Amino acid sequence: MALRNIVKVNTEAESVLYKKTRMVEKFDEKLKQLAEDMIETMHEANGVGLAAPQVGLLKRMFVMNVDPEEGDLVIINPEISEMEGERIAYEGCLSYPQMFGRIKRPFKLKLKYNDLNGAVKEMEAEGLKARCICHEADHLDGIMFTEKVIGDLVHESQLADNADNTDEELY
Ligand SMILES: [Zn+2]
Repeated sequence: MALRNIVKVNTEAESVLYKKTRMVEKFDEKLKQLAEDMIETMHEANGVGLAAPQVGLLKRMFVMNVDPEEGDLVIINPEISEMEGERIAYEGCLSYPQMFGRIKRPFKLKLKYNDLNGAVKEMEAEGLKARCICHEADHLDGIMFTEKVIGDLVHESQLADNADNTDEELY
């Protein structure tokens, strides 16, 4: 396993964050290695999600860990459907250090994806997990959370003063 560099905004490498990614078609050892590296990198950065463009790769793939009981998940070629309800909460991004913004996301959704062996899987998600899936799926389309922010971005040092700050997580 190896840590990967996380691409940040306002750096020379940032253009990869604004590009659309390509479907993963080869489910080989190299992909498993990448998934392990991304999981390690996400934990090292104290994040709950990390998408391939954030480590400089234009692949439709992300990793997440929002529920310690469920553990690490590797999501490949995701397709979101049946979104229901909406919630507004603070989000942060490992590619945009220290800044948070309020984003509207569906409360519930269904997700179809491939696992590391290429098998088709489905899951239902709600709350923080649904929010994380939407944030990461946006990364795969070259969309940063800052494009969807309601109001202003706030620095993490100001977050504690906000009463409606229910979830702050880094994706
Ligand atoms: Zn992000």
